[in-house]
Amino acid sequence: MIKLAVFGDPISHSLSPAIHAEFAKQVGLAIDYIPIQASATEFADRFAAFVRQGGVGANITLPLKQLAFERADQCSPAATQAGAVNTLIKHNNIWLGENTDGIGLVADLQYHKVKLAGAQVLLIGAGGAARGVMPALLAAKVARVHVANRTPERAEALITHVIRHAPTTPLAQLSAGSLNAIPSSPFTVVINSTSSGLQGQSLTLPSRILTTQPFSYDMVYGEQPTPFMQWALNNNCPVADGLGMLVHQAAASFQRWTKATPDTAPVLLLLRKRLGLWSSL
Ligand code: NAP
Repeated sequence: MIKLAVFGDPISHSLSPAIHAEFAKQVGLAIDYIPIQASATEFADRFAAFVRQGGVGANITLPLKQLAFERADQCSPAATQAGAVNTLIKHNNIWLGENTDGIGLVADLQYHKVKLAGAQVLLIGAGGAARGVMPALLAAKVARVHVANRTPERAEALITHVIRHAPTTPLAQLSAGSLNAIPSSPFTVVINSTSSGLQGQSLTLPSRILTTQPFSYDMVYGEQPTPFMQWALNNNCPVADGLGMLVHQAAASFQRWTKATPDTAPVLLLLRKRLGLWSSL
């Protein structure tokens, strides 16, 4: 039995146990994947207990991705550049830190036929998820990323970290600021990576960022459409929720723990049916 878990706070809403159970069924592996609630102050102790019980792999969700980066003994280039870890893998008695969020986002944007090479990207939010996707966006050769966050210092720190840990490939034009100082130059892709919807709080953004009808992607999922998607739909923009990203990033984590590659399409369809979400997305 392969012992796995997802750590986060809150965690009861997580779809990851159901996704990984489906992947395991597909490839014929026996896994035990459980949700473990842990706040930032509880994470170290709860992760240590999981390790003592034989845990060999874990997903990490909000607000723990930066703590998981610090916990990892070694990190992949993507996790290092992000400064955030969403997947921990036990390997020869050390813990490897990986970040599969970017793989998940880019795979889902490609599924939605969004052109990333040369894209002008507005990334809203500067938490663990935003950090996680930056390396993959840059690797996809976007032309520019502006990070806008409620706490602008966190957006600036994200950009500084990415530049400091950049590989030798040329970087896109990077900038950062607050939610009420978003540049007026047009964006082709707008990504909401804030957890505002999760907390039932609304996100107030200037509608001018949607005048060029950018592809508007909400990393959040569950409510359909999400408030961010509804706002973008009201402004005639193409939209998608983050369920596809969730399933793709999960598949990349599963592959790293088990070496087996699951098929994401039937699992995504199953989840959409189960949750009663738009089947066309
Ligand atoms: P996090 O590290 O806690 O960061 C939360 C971010 O949301 C920060 O930028 C925070 O701004 C911002 N925020 C929170 N409440 C806000 C509000 N009321 N108004 C404006 N901004 C607000 O969380 P995370 O790990 O980045 O996750 C963020 C979201 O992405 C979550 O909803 C998560 O479920 C989703 N996510 C989805 C996937 C997927 O596969 N689809 C993967 C990863 C994450 P401050 O810095 O100012 O606090």
